[in-house]
Amino acid sequence: MLTDLAGRIVSVNPAFTAVTGYSEAEAIGKNPSFLKSGRHGADFYQTLWGELDGGGHWQGEIWNRRKNGEIFPEWLTISAVRDPCGNAQSYVGVFSDISHIKRSEAELERLAHYDPLTGLPNRILLHAQLNHALDRAARYKERVAVMVLDLDGFKTVNDSLGHPAGDLLLQSIAARLRQLLRREDTVARLGGDEFSVIAEHVGNGNNPGLIAEKIIQAVAEPIDLDGHRALVTASIGIALYPDDGGDSTRLLQAADMAMYASKQAGRNTSRFHHADMTHAARQRLEIEHGLRRALELGEMEVWYQAQFDLVSGALLGAESLVRWRSPERGLVPPNAFIPIAEETGLILPLGEWVLRQSCAQAVEWRARGLDPGTISVNVAGPQIERGDFYACVSQVLRETGWPAERLELEITESFLLRNAEQAMTLVERLSELGIRVAIDDFGTGYSSLSYLKFLRVDKLKLDQRFVRDLPDDRDDAAITRAVIALGHNLGFKVIAEGVESEAQRDFLRREGCDQSQGYFHARPLPAAEFERLLACRATAA
Ligand code: C2E
Ligand code: MG
Ligand code: MG
Repeated sequence: MLTDLAGRIVSVNPAFTAVTGYSEAEAIGKNPSFLKSGRHGADFYQTLWGELDGGGHWQGEIWNRRKNGEIFPEWLTISAVRDPCGNAQSYVGVFSDISHIKRSEAELERLAHYDPLTGLPNRILLHAQLNHALDRAARYKERVAVMVLDLDGFKTVNDSLGHPAGDLLLQSIAARLRQLLRREDTVARLGGDEFSVIAEHVGNGNNPGLIAEKIIQAVAEPIDLDGHRALVTASIGIALYPDDGGDSTRLLQAADMAMYASKQAGRNTSRFHHADMTHAARQRLEIEHGLRRALELGEMEVWYQAQFDLVSGALLGAESLVRWRSPERGLVPPNAFIPIAEETGLILPLGEWVLRQSCAQAVEWRARGLDPGTISVNVAGPQIERGDFYACVSQVLRETGWPAERLELEITESFLLRNAEQAMTLVERLSELGIRVAIDDFGTGYSSLSYLKFLRVDKLKLDQRFVRDLPDDRDDAAITRAVIALGHNLGFKVIAEGVESEAQRDFLRREGCDQSQGYFHARPLPAAEFERLLACRATAA
């Protein structure tokens, strides 16, 4: 487009017509302002002309209007055309339609800030919105609640019904959350099956505990996934500004810890953050870091606790119990690190190591003429769920040369219950190898008698919680009798764990319990001490 000094259009090319829709005849003689979109104020044009007058050049983005009324962005360069003496004669404007670039910019913006699956804001936008909310709250001395929500059981749906069903589930949860909350509350997807909610003006009729309760109820409603009914629940952690942190990062961390506490409390519930959690979380993190290296550094030990026949008093075998001798923490009991190892997957190498170490140790004892009997090794759920446990066991037996008939595996009742079918096949295959299986902590889950009779296990291990108050507690005595009778009727042996006194031992013997393990007989012992115990019994015999 060429204009004279007064700004009247002198000539345009065909591209001008293609972009604006105006023919040359329609354009000539007009001021370019006839293309104005109305998007820019007077000061915008003033600056433009100012720069042209001064330096003879302007370049920038400008919104104009086409003949059909559509507003579009163009990239425009205007330069003065000068005569040989340097005086401006006319102006030439060159521009291109950049609406397609703008569109992809908007798309990029959307992709960068929204989760494509659910359409909810993503983590980045959540942080931005949370920081705005915190600014407002600081000004008006208000509180803001930040929640982190994690779905319980999502993995099961994903694994059993497939990823498309999982996606559908996330979308319908997102829709439920959006519908449930007020318009001014933010709902975001943090990733995976994690969501976050920001609720402002806490206190003024906005109670985060109640909001969490409503969310829990809404999530727990069955979801129809193309004809399949799926059930998931929500574990929620709540952090408050300013109580639990002053910025978005801290608040989300605090809410995350509280969410973790909800999971620990049995899921499908909510917890507020409190200061102890920070301490607990730090410890957890330290243990997790230490644990990663503990195996390589040889800080793990296996201890052995003897198991006895209640009638003959003979030593039948020993249970392997892992210990962590940490340079910083001293001797760490398994309850402090096994759950963390399970969550992080470290239980796979750790569990395999315990198994191999126990078998190798037992072979060594036998080579020295000592008989440790049957070695019982604890197996954690993830070893069965996430690894090829069968292959692992057969390989360890092959490598160490320990006979399968002298190996017993302890699987907890709660795991067997949750995974009845998977467990049943595995137990079947293990028993074909000659390996024995015991149900650990029996009586604490809610065993279904219908499948118990199909499980090819050999032993029920009565949980120590029932043994503790024997023989005086009437309920525990009744439960103990019932477990012994049930086990025997199904063809299982019954062992009691946590036997600490003679009175307990006598009661169990009277009631027909087969075996016993506990401090009364022997504590868990490091390998060298257990070896002395074996040697003493051998000479006594
Ligand atoms: P568990 O398999 O039920 O083991 C029995 C626990 O009771 C052991 O605790 C043992 O030291 C303790 N105990 C034995 N006799 C008595 C007694 O007379 N009185 C009392 N109060 N306690 C007694 P520990 O060694 O701290 O192990 C705790 C749990 O950690 C075990 O419970 C088991 O579930 C887990 N665990 C230990 N080693 C391993 C392992 O190598 N792999 C896996 N997956 N879990 C393990
Ligand atoms: Mg055990
Ligand atoms: Mg137990």
